[in-house]
Amino acid sequence: MTSAAYLARAGQKVLLIEKNRECGGLVNSFIRDGFHFDAGIRALEDAGIIFPMLKDMGIELEVVKSKVSLGIENEIIHIEDLSSISKYRELLIKFYPESKGEIDEVLKVIRKIMKHMDVLYGIENPVFKDLKHDREFILKRLLPWLPRFIYTVGKINRMNMPVEEYLKTIIKNPSLRDIISQHFFKNTPAFFALSYFSLYLDYFYPKGGVGKLSEALKNKMIECGGEIRTETKIVEVIADKCLLRDQNNITYKYDNLIWAADLKTLYKIIGTEGFPLKIKSSFEESKNKMLKNRGGDSVFSLFLEVDEPLESFGKIANGHFFYTPSKMGLGETHREELNYLLNNFEKVERKQLLCWLDKFTRLNTYEISIPGLKDPGLVPPGKTGIIISFLAEYDLFNNIQKAGWLDEFIQELENRVLSVISNSVYPMLKDRIIARFSFTPLSIENRVGSSEGAITGWAFQKYMPVINKIQIADRSVMTPVPSVFQAGQWAYSPAGVPMSILTGKLAAEKVLKKSGKS
Ligand SMILES: Cc1cc2nc3c(=O)[nH]c(=O)nc-3n(C[C@H](O)[C@H](O)[C@H](O)COP(=O)(O)OP(=O)(O)OC[C@H]3O[C@@H](n4cnc5c(N)ncnc54)[C@H](O)[C@@H]3O)c2cc1C
Repeated sequence: MTSAAYLARAGQKVLLIEKNRECGGLVNSFIRDGFHFDAGIRALEDAGIIFPMLKDMGIELEVVKSKVSLGIENEIIHIEDLSSISKYRELLIKFYPESKGEIDEVLKVIRKIMKHMDVLYGIENPVFKDLKHDREFILKRLLPWLPRFIYTVGKINRMNMPVEEYLKTIIKNPSLRDIISQHFFKNTPAFFALSYFSLYLDYFYPKGGVGKLSEALKNKMIECGGEIRTETKIVEVIADKCLLRDQNNITYKYDNLIWAADLKTLYKIIGTEGFPLKIKSSFEESKNKMLKNRGGDSVFSLFLEVDEPLESFGKIANGHFFYTPSKMGLGETHREELNYLLNNFEKVERKQLLCWLDKFTRLNTYEISIPGLKDPGLVPPGKTGIIISFLAEYDLFNNIQKAGWLDEFIQELENRVLSVISNSVYPMLKDRIIARFSFTPLSIENRVGSSEGAITGWAFQKYMPVINKIQIADRSVMTPVPSVFQAGQWAYSPAGVPMSILTGKLAAEKVLKKSGKS
């Protein structure tokens, strides 16, 4: 959508093709029974990208801070500003007093990373500035910032070891390591994971729901003369003829294609027959890399309509809440134990899986979002909408679906999550739920066409199939196929909304450059 809006603004003829009825993918909100929910991301991080993009586009979006709380068992802290890190220290020491020295070590690292983050996001991202004309920005902001940026990038690149491994070098107690890191994706680079304390302070929420961001971009694009074709799924790219084909066999001719969806899909459906051997072999090499890699972690989300006023929940925690009901930590529950169950799935009995599920739901960390606490207009008077989510393994849901008991499994999972949350942090949930429903990793795969139901592109591995260094981010949008560019969460790693927007802009720039317009 960013690419489309920028290209339309530059006067290009743009057609945005979307498989669903609504645009926005994982930046989306919906209404059910008068309750507004966010279907994908729960709040946005500026990361020096979103606000500069909106400003550059002339989009006004009404936003509020999305305040974060963190909780373990019956202790909850509210993150207000940088000094809240001391509250986090006290929280950890309360549960793990014997690890005080190690906690201080980790906090030293987090503080250092927060300083790096200040540099990294310290100026509006230059990609969204008019560098040809804004001399003041170049002289007063960009040039003084560059040496610090280069120094910081060096530091960051040295901290790309998986956070689980990194924490082992500092902390002996596995429970403490889990409590700090178990809500991050598997193998998240240490810098990215430990930078989250800064990101908690960066979260904001568009009034009316996260989907307002996509809506604003869509409106801007239409205002600039762009067109949208929804409920249109691209099933083939005939690249040597610059043609797309949709599910109804309708074809579309393009001068340039920006593919802003799942890259495994692109590489599977793209034909390169008429191209010279050199292009074909470089395409095959990239295709192999893409198809060998997996999408990253997915989530399970439980949506609740509750007959209880917002104030009852607001007294306990903010509308964006990371809560761990047990200080014990997941240990190997979501790793070795789950792998064993998946590798022996045919032999494993339902009872055994449900027993594992008991433990998994008891020890997990939950991301709880209450849209009404950020914007009270999002719920019927006196009621509250809640989204409870946690990282979930796609293969588990896939195997269970194949075995024919997915609906039953979802019920069992919902019951357990509700029991854990109502026996701990929100006791009023026990008899106040009006309606409930959930999205699994399979729903995400179906909805946005995301391999393995991934929510932020590729799984973290030693060799990534896309660019993963910020200093060469502009290369991330190139593909080996002429006139085909890539953008969004699959084009760069680590990804998320800000990087999707950044790559969207970078891809639009490449197209404009190619067309001699920039
Ligand atoms: C619960 C949750 C929490 C998250 N938390 C964060 C967070 O804290 N921070 C963060 O930065 N990110 C977070 N994310 C991730 C973030 O939302 C996504 O990475 C980002 O929105 C991806 O945007 P995108 O436009 O690149 O891709 P998508 O949102 O996947 O959009 C791709 C679009 O392409 C369409 N499409 C797919 N295939 C086709 C086809 N063949 N033909 C036509 N159309 C097609 C899809 O329908 C979709 O609209 C979270 C996501 C979830 C679900």
